Amino acid sequence: MTDDTPTSKPSSPRLIVIDGPAGAGKSTVARRLAEHFELPLLDTGAIYRTLALVARRRGIPWTDGAALGRLTVDFPISFKTLRDDSAAASSDDGSGTVRQQVHFAGEDVSVAIRTPAISEGSSRVSLHPEVREGLLGIQRALAAGGCVAEGRDMGTVVFPEARDKFFLTASLEARAQRRHAELASGDAEVELEEVLRDVERRDQRDQSRAAAPLVQAADAVVLDSSHLDIAEVVRRIIEIIETREA
Ligand code: C5P
Repeated sequence: MTDDTPTSKPSSPRLIVIDGPAGAGKSTVARRLAEHFELPLLDTGAIYRTLALVARRRGIPWTDGAALGRLTVDFPISFKTLRDDSAAASSDDGSGTVRQQVHFAGEDVSVAIRTPAISEGSSRVSLHPEVREGLLGIQRALAAGGCVAEGRDMGTVVFPEARDKFFLTASLEARAQRRHAELASGDAEVELEEVLRDVERRDQRDQSRAAAPLVQAADAVVLDSSHLDIAEVVRRIIEIIETREA
């Protein structure tokens, strides 16, 4: 197990950013890119999820932007990557070898932040400008040594200077099916229809909020994964980055 909270490197750190709506395949793509380029992962959705979880535990309503903003002032979140290099853990396409844990104040909250209730909470807390502002510095500090960052506003607000920006999208049905399969592989039991409604509701909020809405950066490469499999999306992204560097 290695603590992958990034540390500063002397040469300019590599930053790859991936934005897009829920279920577009960002997490899998980001994980495989992180493996390929040997970079830490920064799952910014997990930060919003953790904020929603901690707020609920402390009795802070998801509607109280000011109190949620104060909560971000001292927010001891960290990520740990678990690498399993055994042959049993590796699938043909190389996935399944890296798993990420999210820790808050020393507690592993990885499972607690993946429930439908916390998905809804993360979507609600992310609307508040005080929250987005408060989490900016945390995200930038975590990315300081270079990383693959995924979220909704990576290329537009958090890391506008990044060269390698990708916007991953897919039809609502494709995204709901992907999210459902992810949830079904964990402990959660949820109906596809419920996942579809959840994804749609969260997208609408992300796209219509005033603060850092989900929009593609003008200089992002857009990839639609409705009819492309994830391995192909990853292959294209690697090719684009490596061509830029050749
Ligand atoms: O990516 P994930 O679905 O885990 O994100 C949870 C929620 O956090 C999203 O529904 C979105 O509202 C919010 N989010 C955000 N900005 C980010 C990442 C996530 O607003 N950069």
